Amino acid sequence: MPPNEMPPGSDLPHDGVGAPRSGFVVAIDGPSGSGKSSVSKAVARRLGFRFLDTGATYRALTWWCARLGVDLADETAVAAAARRFPLSVGTDPDRPDVHVDGINVTAAIREPVVSERVSLVAAVLPVRRILGDLQRRIIEEAAAGGVVAEGRDITTVVAPDAQVRILLTASEEARLARRSAELHGLADAVSMAATRSQVIDRDRVDSAVASFTVAADGVTTVDTSELDFEGAVAAVLQVVEAARR
Ligand code: C5P
Repeated sequence: MPPNEMPPGSDLPHDGVGAPRSGFVVAIDGPSGSGKSSVSKAVARRLGFRFLDTGATYRALTWWCARLGVDLADETAVAAAARRFPLSVGTDPDRPDVHVDGINVTAAIREPVVSERVSLVAAVLPVRRILGDLQRRIIEEAAAGGVVAEGRDITTVVAPDAQVRILLTASEEARLARRSAELHGLADAVSMAATRSQVIDRDRVDSAVASFTVAADGVTTVDTSELDFEGAVAAVLQVVEAARR
């Protein structure tokens, strides 16, 4: 198995101590449309670090449940699918490929059918524990050479001991405009209204199980509302460089 790929998660309780034990971890949380995925990937590239998109693990499990015909309203069945989840996640920022049972699902997990359902899967508490353990193991494995991990609960639950912890935020309007441009190629009023459920509604549901709108103690807030992509990358790199000094 390649070193940047991990076996399926187990549901053994973790020791309550977040990654890392050694190495350098940059943990980045934020709401939908904050740019955390593209910014985190670019930061990892600039630093020569590995990259982990934890949202991809929840998306991949959603895809796998559909494949198995698991009813997402049946939390016991969803948790059972998570316990026997043949996932492998790449941590190369240039190729963060995701495979389930040997199938490359990197593109499929971005489909609306997954985006619309992933919050149901992420709300199942045993699933959060299983995927959190899996994410922690990937981070620990990658930390020696440095890793940027992004999601909703990385600074607080998955890697609260990370050397750098950042909450990447942006105004609701900026987030809607960005996601709308991404999904529809436009940020006009009609496209923004169509994007609302993908951003605002999903964040509302996700907020019930993870806290990513207000920075926890020791977490640095980086507001990207007024920044372009390069500006956001530079702002995050500045926080990282300050911590490395
Ligand atoms: O970041 P992304 O939009 O791909 O995340 C997909 C979904 O995965 C989120 O809407 C949320 O339900 C879940 N998620 C989570 N905790 C994380 C990362 C993602 O619950 N750390």
